[in-house]
Amino acid sequence: FTGVVAVDGPSGSGKSTVSRRLAAALGARYLDTGAMYRAVTLAVLRAGVDPSDTDGVLSVLYGVDLQMGTDPAQPGVRLNGESVDRQIRTEQVTGAVSAVSSVPGVRTVMIAQQRAIAATGGIVIEGRDITTVVAPDADVRVLLTASAAARAARRGGETGTNAAEQQRAMRRRDELDSRTSSFLSAADEGVLVLDSTELGIDEVVDQLVHAVHV
Ligand code: C5P
Repeated sequence: FTGVVAVDGPSGSGKSTVSRRLAAALGARYLDTGAMYRAVTLAVLRAGVDPSDTDGVLSVLYGVDLQMGTDPAQPGVRLNGESVDRQIRTEQVTGAVSAVSSVPGVRTVMIAQQRAIAATGGIVIEGRDITTVVAPDADVRVLLTASAAARAARRGGETGTNAAEQQRAMRRRDELDSRTSSFLSAADEGVLVLDSTELGIDEVVDQLVHAVHV
């Protein structure tokens, strides 16, 4: 596979699992763009900068060097040479990432890096604005959804917090993110919309492998 698959969806939609499995099945690379925004957010928090301080965020951004691993079996993020895969998944980072990713200068830099990585092809890219902004010409474009309950249960299982608390935090992040990226209504022409609540992850991966091969 030498093309591009673009996968968008909210947190807990199963898009990371689906995208990694799809990339492995296709013998393609995998890019987690959420991890890029999370790594910049980690740098902002470490610098003691308020995530809502746009100028402060931008000054941190210019000192950030991201290295994205694209092997679906082992996708890693390096922030200025340091492996930060665990550190970018903390509640502090998750709570601040929407603010950091809403800074236009941050998006410009991230989108340019994502397009450069995508340019060589053979890749599955997942995020919030991949089907619409980063790779609108992708060979296959997918919007992955799931019920709020299923999404909260998945995220709660990942982070160990309870479902009600998780659902509140998720709704808040969705609301903030939807002001930045319009992925929730990205079901425009040519976008395949799949609901992982009804289909289950295996079925979603099967359908996507099929979609790539037609
Ligand atoms: O996918 P994940 O939940 O790890 O994404 C973390 C955050 O990064 C999102 O809540 C959103 O604020 C931001 N993001 C974005 N654009 C993307 C991917 C993620 O703004 N393409």
